[in-house]
Amino acid sequence: MFSLLNQSPTFTLTNQNHFRNFSNKAYDAIIVGAGSIGVPTSFKLQESGLKVLVIDQKASPGQGDNKCAIGGIRATHGNDSKILACIRSLEVFSTWEEKHGHNIEWLKGGYSFPCYREKEENDLKSLLPLQKGYGMKIDYISADDIKELIPGINTNGLRGGTWSPNDGSASPMLSSFAFYKYAKGLGVDFKFKEKVVKILKNENNKVVGVKTVKDTYSAPIVIDAAGSWSTELMRSVGINIDLVPDSHEAAITEPTEKFFTPMVVDLRPGKGSKNVYFYQNGLGQLILCITPDPPIKGTNRQETSSFLPMISKRVISLLPRLKNVRYRRTWRGVYPMTPDGAPIMGWNKELKGLYMATGMCGQGFMCGPGLAETIEHDINGNLNKDDKIILEFTNPYREYKGMEKIK
Ligand SMILES: Cc1cc2nc3c(=O)[nH]c(=O)nc-3n(C[C@H](O)[C@H](O)[C@H](O)COP(=O)(O)OP(=O)(O)OC[C@H]3O[C@@H](n4cnc5c(N)ncnc54)[C@H](O)[C@@H]3O)c2cc1C
Repeated sequence: MFSLLNQSPTFTLTNQNHFRNFSNKAYDAIIVGAGSIGVPTSFKLQESGLKVLVIDQKASPGQGDNKCAIGGIRATHGNDSKILACIRSLEVFSTWEEKHGHNIEWLKGGYSFPCYREKEENDLKSLLPLQKGYGMKIDYISADDIKELIPGINTNGLRGGTWSPNDGSASPMLSSFAFYKYAKGLGVDFKFKEKVVKILKNENNKVVGVKTVKDTYSAPIVIDAAGSWSTELMRSVGINIDLVPDSHEAAITEPTEKFFTPMVVDLRPGKGSKNVYFYQNGLGQLILCITPDPPIKGTNRQETSSFLPMISKRVISLLPRLKNVRYRRTWRGVYPMTPDGAPIMGWNKELKGLYMATGMCGQGFMCGPGLAETIEHDINGNLNKDDKIILEFTNPYREYKGMEKIK
């Protein structure tokens, strides 16, 4: 377990010799990465009274893998930790516009996993007691109810499926921009187009800041929120982390009349893919994604020619009425994948003051605001019961065995 888990940030920034060579750019915490995790973490930390700097190599917030996410947000997961984190995230996304006035295209469309085989039916049903135990609105509904929820769905062999009406979606780009605006308003500093090339440490093996391509900045805490670039960042201080990024593609269509609300997830494997999932956004555009099988390891973000034929075949067989809808665009991004599919979050034991918030796999957008709250509590030495459950699951020093049943 962590030796540093409950440490509080009793670091002070004044009169410390190791800061004398820095410019006067001193902060309480520096976050590397203005993505799905970095931006919400910045405002949580600043709200708690810390002075925060976020640095990103891109030109604006959310331009890493955040902008590749299709925007799905659900709390109906298969383990306590993700349920707890995403209950908080749902609260943030669903109330953002009301509280802060920015439209992030939150859509309470729900999630539905239609089932055609006993295996998926049993797997999904086995999770219901856990999910309901957290007060979640989710049920296994009949094939007739699924037909009503997703008009035109292929009914051949349809057994029923789950329906969780309180889950939904939001625009990852609008969300990160809204979070950024709010963070800026609180006083968080952002530096863009500035790659962090090294995390700096002192002779006592303690973080003292970062060096970028342009400057150096000091802080006793550095948070790695660099997503699929984390391996490279960590190497700058000789730390190896177990990230194996793999790539996923997505597509968006022209708008059509709105005829269903949920994120539809078909868990059956197909040729070259595991599950396929899609929803209709507020404009009626379909946004679709597939999980390649076997995974396409690496960080290549160039779209492939095999993706559209593959996903079209699967989606049209599930919902034949989509056969004439035209695509507008495809894109490819990277999941910062860990061997067991769970994030890597917590204090690093090898380097004091280094906080890991990476390895978000395929759910960093939806987990972002929820995990940000735990990061803030951990950094301020203020963990509650839920945070401890979350951190046990994300412990960087766990065994990395097994994989969640439904991902
Ligand atoms: C096709 C696709 C669909 C997806 N759909 C969903 C979905 O529906 N729901 C969901 O929750 N998730 C989804 N995801 C996953 C989600 O996109 C990721 O889990 C999430 O974006 C990871 O967040 P992050 O903050 O760790 O990384 P990022 O958002 O990539 O942020 C990391 C940031 O760090 C910056 N950075 C890295 N290294 C440095 C450095 N050395 N110096 C300065 N800056 C640096 C990068 O430029 C980047 O902006 C999807 C992903 C893909 C590819």
